[in-house]
Amino acid sequence: SSGDHVPVLVVGTGYGGAVTALRLTQAGIPVAMVEMGQSWSTPGSDGKIFCNMLKPDGRAYWLRTETDQPVSYFLGAPYNKSIPSYTGVLDSEHFANTRVYQGRGVGGGSLVNGGMAVVPKRWYFEEILPQVDADAMYNVYYPRANAGLGANSVDPAWYNSASCYQYARVGSSQAGDAGFNTVFVPNVYSFPYMQRELAGSAPRSALASEVIYGNNYGKQSLDKTYLAAAAATGRLSISPLHKVTAVSPAAVGSGYSVTMEQLDTGGNVVAVKTVTADKVFFGAGSVGTSKLLVTMRDTGLLPDLPAAVGQGWGNNGNVMVGRANYLWAPTGGLQACMPVRGIDNWADPTYPCFAEISPFPAGTELWISLYLAITKNPNRATFTYNPGTGGVDLSWQASWTQPSITAAANVFDRINKAEGTIYRTDLFGVYKTWGDDFVYHPLGGCVLGKATDLYGRLPGYPGLYVTDGSLIPGSTGVNPFVTITALAERNIENVIANDFG
Ligand code: FAD
Repeated sequence: SSGDHVPVLVVGTGYGGAVTALRLTQAGIPVAMVEMGQSWSTPGSDGKIFCNMLKPDGRAYWLRTETDQPVSYFLGAPYNKSIPSYTGVLDSEHFANTRVYQGRGVGGGSLVNGGMAVVPKRWYFEEILPQVDADAMYNVYYPRANAGLGANSVDPAWYNSASCYQYARVGSSQAGDAGFNTVFVPNVYSFPYMQRELAGSAPRSALASEVIYGNNYGKQSLDKTYLAAAAATGRLSISPLHKVTAVSPAAVGSGYSVTMEQLDTGGNVVAVKTVTADKVFFGAGSVGTSKLLVTMRDTGLLPDLPAAVGQGWGNNGNVMVGRANYLWAPTGGLQACMPVRGIDNWADPTYPCFAEISPFPAGTELWISLYLAITKNPNRATFTYNPGTGGVDLSWQASWTQPSITAAANVFDRINKAEGTIYRTDLFGVYKTWGDDFVYHPLGGCVLGKATDLYGRLPGYPGLYVTDGSLIPGSTGVNPFVTITALAERNIENVIANDFG
């Protein structure tokens, strides 16, 4: 409530925030979390908490009157449809030249993502974060993160025969035909549960076209793992539908004054509250944390924040593409929405690329192979406060995705050549091959060692910390959430040892 004083306030309930909350509560420190999205614990009128990708409704999107699908076209026609405006689970946040998809709700991105739990190659981690001790990351914090997240691996024998992974087997063998290596990737979705879905002994979720608008069963999202463990300490409180809008040094005494808006499910502000906190951890995600801190610096509430706050944002080289297969290479009408295979061409010295073989969960056979490619794109954008709009702009340029397209084309041109196939040009626009105007993996904006010290402390403001994907300098070489989690584990251990006593 307004006027409260708390020892620790965490902004956002995604990976960075959830790790921070668990380790602090386990250390005996009460934690108050503030989350702009809903708690996603109450079923709708259809008995389900989340809707699926085939019949999106208001639950799908954060305050939009029309869906904004990543694959937004089909056979030359726009594929989006009207929905009621509601505080739904997936936000497609529009900047001038890109759209950034993010989860909204208790659990953040874990509610909407593909669950792929991938550890980057150690040599690449050492390249992106050379100041971080890689021995400690690979021996201690990555294993700790994977354990906390519930990462598990598909049984290869089951995978080989499961109809729902036909698309992944086709994608793997075609990559092999072109000389590329494919690998299994772990996932946080429970594979024993998925086996029961396919056997018909459990309600379907991954096999019911559920993923980017949430999974009703099987997904070990943060609300079931880190946040549940933190709640079990009895020291955690979470305020959903509360959006932090300002943080500044408290007028009286030490600590920080935190202002937040309480929202209703229509997105209307129903109350404005101010609390004080001794320490504030920013876990609002790469975009959320960067926007908040840039605004605080440039409106004079935290004027001493460094110039590096807002800089170094990248899209993990994301680009999507689809290929058209021949009738004799069907990909399956029933597809498991959790990817388990990746094409690993990261060792290519010129065009590193790690491409997940993605489902195309249309519920019917379409002979489409879809991929989300992760590439090494050197372009980095900056967030700037815009006094005219009161919002924050992102300097990303449309042409900056070209290095990603070139690297991905190096892989998929060769696969097309080996198979005698062509790209689908009807999925991301009319005659548009590459899905390059949106991002699943926003990273950076408050880069470790530049905008913060080497453990996420914001310089000049004792008691303010960054703990999420904004710490990572724009690229991880693989899907990012295990790295975000492991880095948060590393940082909070140091902060508990040194800053609480
Ligand atoms: P987030 O998880 O984004 O959490 C931030 C939280 O803060 C959100 O809940 C947000 O609502 C809240 N918030 C923001 N601003 C405020 C505010 N002002 N006040 C209060 N609360 C606020 N990664 C993988 O590793 N594997 C995958 O398979 C994968 N698939 C993906 C698929 C999709 C469709 C998407 C969108 C992402 C995917 N990702 C995947 C990316 C992954 O989900 C993100 O990298 C990760 O969630 C980022 O973690 P975070 O802690 O930085 O922030």
